[in-house]
Amino acid sequence: MASISVPRLLARGAVRPLCRPRPCCPRPQFQRAFLSSKHPSGFVPPAVEDLEELRERAQEFTRREIPEDVAAHTDRTNAFPNEMWRKLGDAGFLGITADEEYGGLAMGYQAHCVIMEEISRASGSIGLSYAAHSQLCVNQLMLNGSPDQKLRFLPGLVAGEKVGALAMSEHSAGSDVVSMKTTAKKVDGGFLLNGTKMWITNGPDADYIIVYAKTTPDAGSKGITAFIVDTKTKGFSCARKLDKLGMRGSNTGEIVLEDVFVPAENVLGAVDRGVRVLMEGLDLERLVLSAGPIGIMQASLDLALPYTHTRTQFSIPLAHNQLMQAKLADMHVALSSARAYTLSVAAAIDRHHEAIAADDWLIPTQDCAGAILFAAERATLCALDAVQCLGGMGYVNEIPAGRLLRDAKLYEIGAGTSEVRRIVIGRAFNRLYK
Ligand SMILES: Cc1cc2nc3c(=O)[nH]c(=O)nc-3n(C[C@H](O)[C@H](O)[C@H](O)COP(=O)(O)OP(=O)(O)OC[C@H]3O[C@@H](n4cnc5c(N)ncnc54)[C@H](O)[C@@H]3O)c2cc1C
Repeated sequence: MASISVPRLLARGAVRPLCRPRPCCPRPQFQRAFLSSKHPSGFVPPAVEDLEELRERAQEFTRREIPEDVAAHTDRTNAFPNEMWRKLGDAGFLGITADEEYGGLAMGYQAHCVIMEEISRASGSIGLSYAAHSQLCVNQLMLNGSPDQKLRFLPGLVAGEKVGALAMSEHSAGSDVVSMKTTAKKVDGGFLLNGTKMWITNGPDADYIIVYAKTTPDAGSKGITAFIVDTKTKGFSCARKLDKLGMRGSNTGEIVLEDVFVPAENVLGAVDRGVRVLMEGLDLERLVLSAGPIGIMQASLDLALPYTHTRTQFSIPLAHNQLMQAKLADMHVALSSARAYTLSVAAAIDRHHEAIAADDWLIPTQDCAGAILFAAERATLCALDAVQCLGGMGYVNEIPAGRLLRDAKLYEIGAGTSEVRRIVIGRAFNRLYK
């Protein structure tokens, strides 16, 4: 159980009645098939005060556990501080969207975004690894796992005793992930997996990885299955840890699967329905990950604001020059807009939890993709502005401005590129006007 008692769990007496929402838009037929509950049973959307208090808890945590020297060391050594998993677990942050029955906080997606933002503000790379575990793995298990799978895997993952990851991408299948080549052949009692997976966050450290593989290779998107792979299984290996431009210390691996036996009870969702599992999580993944670049934008302002107000040139603080004020203003507006966009989408999803479960309200695909598209591109610009505001000091590695820039750029590539996000938004509109 979480050692920090989040006040929502103690102090929420008054439950606001849920108004019956109308669908936000016409529902295309193919999307209806993918709908199911996205929240734990008995979920109640958190009140504003709950979220404020949760943010304060997260800030206390990052001040104590991820001060700047930890963030800098993680970047310099390109190594995740493994003791962090237990600390995150003890704080309750690894199961924000998970059912209380499995040790989670059952607080929903606004809360998850708040935690993701604050961890990423302290360290972009720890934030990325955090989301790969808590969203890509834990939440995916919550959404698609059988009761037995949840019972077997979630408590350890939520406590931080086990590390989770998700593996879709391959060398030759990134944006076009459905063209993946990893296969899963049916054998007695389960499946044998063969193939390689590329760029897998937490891959070198993970205990459990949700792996997508082709069970019916000729059937395209209708022949993919999701598996929960225990990395201790014979034939599983991490070929290498990648040396990256940024997000250093968020360990990224190339995974090799050679006749890895996965028992039938570890199929996540139904055989040949892996794309459904993928779709169940994709919108929410984009939404929660959008809080990563928001945290990096806040960190950029955390650096630029005090620096430009304390350093003087030409006998006045840098920030008293209008050209500098314009940069700071643009950074502030970008951050505030991105945060408002992400949290408003997350709030709508939390508020409409019953309607989503009843197939009465659609998660807005265009806004989940829109939130991360907007935040990611602004974060790169914001970090560039932070470097510029700090002048020569922005360009030396003893100050984290360069790290923020390198970390921010990832969010225009990982979890789908900016180009693909624009395509996703365009296609969502096309479906509405079919
Ligand atoms: C640090 C990091 C962590 C990651 N973590 C994970 C993880 O945990 N699990 C996982 O499964 N994957 C992970 N990924 C993989 C990530 O999702 C892919 O890198 C991403 O989807 C892009 O695929 P790609 O690299 O093959 O680029 P490509 O698909 O080769 O794209 C190259 C360029 O072409 C553009 N492009 C491609 N297709 C089109 C098109 N139709 N129209 C216009 N432009 C197009 C892209 O936008 C991009 O600019 C991670 C990647 C990184 C870098």
